[in-house]
Amino acid sequence: MKRLTVYVLTTCVLIGFLYQRDVASQIGAVKELAPGVYFHEGDLRGKGHCNNGWVIFDDYVLVVDANFPSGAQEIIPKIKAQTSKPIRFAFDTHHHGDHSYGNQIWVDNGAVPIAHENVVAEMRKYETGLFGGQPGRWENEVKVREDLKGTKLKAPSLLYRDLMIFDDGKHRVELRYFGVGHTHGDGFAWLPNEKILFTGDAAVNGPFNYMGDGDSGAWIDTLGKAQKLGAAIVAPGHGPAGDARVLEAQRQYFVALRSEVEKRKRLTPDRVMADVPAIRGTLLKQHATYIDTAPASTGFESQVAQVYKELTGKEFPKRAALDDARRAHERHHGIAD
Ligand SMILES: [Zn+2]
Repeated sequence: MKRLTVYVLTTCVLIGFLYQRDVASQIGAVKELAPGVYFHEGDLRGKGHCNNGWVIFDDYVLVVDANFPSGAQEIIPKIKAQTSKPIRFAFDTHHHGDHSYGNQIWVDNGAVPIAHENVVAEMRKYETGLFGGQPGRWENEVKVREDLKGTKLKAPSLLYRDLMIFDDGKHRVELRYFGVGHTHGDGFAWLPNEKILFTGDAAVNGPFNYMGDGDSGAWIDTLGKAQKLGAAIVAPGHGPAGDARVLEAQRQYFVALRSEVEKRKRLTPDRVMADVPAIRGTLLKQHATYIDTAPASTGFESQVAQVYKELTGKEFPKRAALDDARRAHERHHGIAD
């Protein structure tokens, strides 16, 4: 009897777990988070796509994130299948290619790209080709992404500083800014009526953090401010949507990562680099969601290197193999340099 109970319990837990995973991650499926509010988990590993959201207002549709051009082209028919209302606005949560390189596609479909004003400042820094300077990230990316070839980079032209509000009496979307995090221009889309928060890559739900354009200390504060909104549903930039725990788990990961690196900040770059497997082992215990355990992955080492650089100003020694792998990892996010 006891054995049967254990068996039944184990089976239930297992089925529960599989079911959870099944409903949690539905790449390519349109998920209704609330009436008129939708979430679409992009195919990151296959196509480099980010997640999208959209809100159907009385007279128009507001889309969260422009995605890569191929991502925009995948989403547009899915929106048009739901509504004949015009898509008027595409909100870039930040400047990275997988969130903004599709801007021109949305413009071609009648929408205006919107962003926090720092997104344009970030583009001036990294997308130098667009502003008449040296080739920037777009020019690098166009060599490897077919979907960029038939379009062009378009900077957002409708900008906000602290807050932009869309409200038709039924739906309300507030575009917010809480400071530096994943980048210097992280915008959030907050729906106070439904308590839904679209975070862009300020929060992800999986081993997808890229830390090279932000600051991990400021990021922790930014996530803390976003948590004060009291979101019930969190739609991240990559990975499945979840509840408030997504924000807390993301914040706790950075707290733990910084604390491990902080302990070693008086060590040489070589020593800390040699300690990466030990740091990974410690963090895997409570933060496995955020750590890519694929043998070839160097994402975690890059994160340790980034935090070490923030804390000490020193860089890890360059390794050709690591550099290649880092570039491949970053290419997923459209930020290969
Ligand atoms: Zn990003």
